[in-house]
Amino acid sequence: MRNNQYLGNIGRAWKYGVEMTRGASAARITASYALNAIEIRVNDRGEFREFLRLLTEDMDRLLGSFGERLVVEKMLPCPCADCAVDPQPHFFKYSDLRRRIEVLKKDTIECAKSGLDIEVKPFLETFFGKTDAMKNVFISYSHRDEAAKDRLLVHLKLLARQGKIAPWNDRLIRPGEEWDAEIKTALHQADIILFLLSPDAIASDYIWDHEIALAMERHRAGTARVVPIILQACQWKETPLQGLQGLPRDGKPVNDFPNPENAWAAIAEEIRRLAD
Ligand SMILES: [Zn+2]
Repeated sequence: MRNNQYLGNIGRAWKYGVEMTRGASAARITASYALNAIEIRVNDRGEFREFLRLLTEDMDRLLGSFGERLVVEKMLPCPCADCAVDPQPHFFKYSDLRRRIEVLKKDTIECAKSGLDIEVKPFLETFFGKTDAMKNVFISYSHRDEAAKDRLLVHLKLLARQGKIAPWNDRLIRPGEEWDAEIKTALHQADIILFLLSPDAIASDYIWDHEIALAMERHRAGTARVVPIILQACQWKETPLQGLQGLPRDGKPVNDFPNPENAWAAIAEEIRRLAD
């Protein structure tokens, strides 16, 4: 682990786990192959929240370094009256909890075991202290550029898992939902609005008639950041997006990179900076 300076006292280490202390706090980290899970338990003494935050950040970094083939969910044990005394409490997905408060704007969530409602924010704060707001990222693209949009989502996955961003694109609209209204709502809630630009995107009437005007209005009002992402050479500088800082930074389209993956990685870094 990278964080060895905090782990002055590694009490015991064994094949599937390790015990560590930091000040008055003690942590036990165990790996369960049967459950495909890594469990972190921290006692509630000293600055245990800070300790837990450092440990989970390290874990995020470590697991993130395996790339996308490793699917990781951070799970938190339910604090409801029933689960508090249950040796096998219900576990919530961390990403679901963040989505609940920041995308769905709901304060409570139901425990799947007891049916009791719990307050999401105070629950998250017992683990992580005050959390920064997750940024909503709206992705506008032509469906002909679907593959590029999917590569972008892969590169944004770690940021999403860390709870820094919630990416949105129209593929998240469920059947039966009002397509146009859903897009408008998502645009209104977005903190960062990405336009994937190509000749196909420029040719899309929907993007130009509906999405660009609202996005630029919010950009000018300072309530959202609009970022053009150049997929292919196209005439975006003749559009209302002219004057904005596009990505990749030197203006070279993603598809013109010998390896476009390098362009996506740099773009994801820029978006991390915007989300921080
Ligand atoms: Zn519960």
